[in-house]
Amino acid sequence: MTKVCLECGEKIIGRSDKKFCSDYCRNAYNNTVNKDSKNLIRNINNRLRKNWRILEALNPDQKTKTTRTKLIQNGFDFNFFTSTYTTKAGTVYYFVYDQGYLPLENDFYALVKRE
Ligand SMILES: [Zn+2]
Repeated sequence: MTKVCLECGEKIIGRSDKKFCSDYCRNAYNNTVNKDSKNLIRNINNRLRKNWRILEALNPDQKTKTTRTKLIQNGFDFNFFTSTYTTKAGTVYYFVYDQGYLPLENDFYALVKRE
C-alpha cells in the first residue's frame, strides 16, 4: 500500500506510520491546522462580542424589554451565546457573558444583566 504525504501528496517512502514526506511538510500542515482553529475561535469570539455589545446597548439599566426585530436589525445572531440558565419553572434564559435574554410572547424579549 502506498501512502501519500498529508501536506503535499507525494508518495511517502519508508516507515508505514509516517504521515508526511518531510519535516517541512509536517510543520506546514500543523501550522495550517492551528491557524484554521485559531481563525474559528477568533470568528466565534467576534460574534459573541458583537452580540454582547448589542445586548449591552439595548439594556443600559440591567433590565428591559425589546423585540426580536430590533435585535436582528442590530445584527444579533441567536446562534451565539455562552450559557443558558433554566429556572425552576423551566424558563430558559440565554446568556452572552453577563447579558441575558429570554424569549417572551409575540416577538418580545426580556433582557437582563446578571449581577
Ligand atoms: Zn510532503
